Amino acid sequence: MSIYSSEFLQRLTDITGNNGVIEDPSRGPGPIVRPRSTEEVSEIMKVCTEHKVPVVTFGGNTGLVQGTRRNGDELGLSMERMAAIEGIDVAGRTMTVQAGAVLQRVQETAEESGFLYPLDLGGRGTATIGGNISTNAGGNRVIRYGMTRDQILALEMVLADGTIIPMQGPAIKNNTGYDLKHLAIGGEGTLGVVTRAILRMRTFPVSQACAWVAVNDFDSLTKLLSFIDRESSGTLSSFEVMWSDYYEAMTGDSTPYKPPVPHGHPLYVLIELQGGNQERDQVRFEEIMVAAYEQQLVADAAIAQSEGERMAMWDIRDDVNQLFENGFIDVKNLSFYSSDVSMPINDMEDFVKEITAEMPGKESGSHVFVFGHLGDGNLHVNPCAQGPDRPSPKELGEIIYRAVRKRGGSISAEHGIGLKRKEYLDWTRTETEIELMRRIKAVFDPDNLMNPGKIF
Ligand SMILES: Cc1cc2nc3c(=O)[nH]c(=O)nc-3n(C[C@H](O)[C@H](O)[C@H](O)COP(=O)(O)OP(=O)(O)OC[C@H]3O[C@@H](n4cnc5c(N)ncnc54)[C@H](O)[C@@H]3O)c2cc1C
Repeated sequence: MSIYSSEFLQRLTDITGNNGVIEDPSRGPGPIVRPRSTEEVSEIMKVCTEHKVPVVTFGGNTGLVQGTRRNGDELGLSMERMAAIEGIDVAGRTMTVQAGAVLQRVQETAEESGFLYPLDLGGRGTATIGGNISTNAGGNRVIRYGMTRDQILALEMVLADGTIIPMQGPAIKNNTGYDLKHLAIGGEGTLGVVTRAILRMRTFPVSQACAWVAVNDFDSLTKLLSFIDRESSGTLSSFEVMWSDYYEAMTGDSTPYKPPVPHGHPLYVLIELQGGNQERDQVRFEEIMVAAYEQQLVADAAIAQSEGERMAMWDIRDDVNQLFENGFIDVKNLSFYSSDVSMPINDMEDFVKEITAEMPGKESGSHVFVFGHLGDGNLHVNPCAQGPDRPSPKELGEIIYRAVRKRGGSISAEHGIGLKRKEYLDWTRTETEIELMRRIKAVFDPDNLMNPGKIF
């Protein structure tokens, strides 16, 4: 049965009530169903299985790999009416939410109770917990708290046939057979609809110490990471590295950002520590930075003296769109590819050199903007190629993925596969692994109705 048939749409409306089924071309072609509860999701899925209708679940639609794209024959299932924060357990340090809860609201609710929900990323105001779970999102604090996988104590999921897989309890420890939640985490909506979750909260850090540091070579950078990690007694929460091309473009004359330290170094790093006493932690941080300078691990440094200075440093790291808005790049004659790859730290320097060598020369206006979460082995490599002989965006992607494959890395560290990277999945996963993934999908979703065609 077609998703446009009036009988099908009436059945969905009977389940979800007034305004339960809408059309919104800005979110793709075809109807979108908006359930209000797990039971409604289950009823919807039973109808879809009966009529063999494929379903694409989405939260905030902020994913970066076309994971929510629909082709016109697929029903959209939006989690926007399942956004409740159901409760906080202060003693157990957990929060129970519906999957449509927006990340920023979860963070703010945790903070109101004196807790930190540590996952943080640029799309926080729109991205949902269900989307974070389904992409196993990472972000800026992975080095200390881990990825979304490390924040999820339990989750509830509805399968294609309407079966509700209930949540296990919130205990961190639960070794009773296969832990099925880990298949849903990073599953990109291909195994079922995640409907609720129990999140792990941490102590809210009351102090933040932040510095912008220039480093003379890659060897010093890796030594600096080990040094700061050791000296800061487990409070290191961010170690965000930027190659000079990115830093100099972001803090050049045509941008609103002032360089915290002068240009002219090959590498820069934003370091942040989060702890329990602002005055004491700031003093300790300054001591650590002086010691790093004396050991020649640091060439220059600016330590944020106020919340405003700290935020300004983060803007330089986060506001990537500046590169395309400030005229630094000629967007009309551009081949661009954004990637998020991972590999052993020791391979990164050589990797960036190899990509740069395959690009048109600097005289053409080409750049390779590289930044990333060094401690997590994760780099965002964004080549901008210009000039008449520039590689196409697809060729740029393949230059990157070839170099990743050679080093035993992964073509996606954070954002997932979706449609965008599907044709490259077997560049860093074996046929045996992919076949096993297909068989697992068939167990959960034998009719291939859940986000079909995504990942593989
Ligand atoms: C400015 C910006 C910065 C970002 N920074 C980072 C970053 O630092 N690190 C990082 O990892 N990611 C980052 N992202 C991308 C990140 O993956 C998403 O922001 C987020 O995790 C997706 O949440 P969403 O609700 O928007 O999901 P959507 O985009 O709606 O969906 C993403 C995928 O999850 C599936 N899905 C969504 N909800 C459910 C559900 N309830 N059940 C089953 N499947 C579901 C969808 O089918 C799709 O495959 C960034 C995005 C933006 C726009």
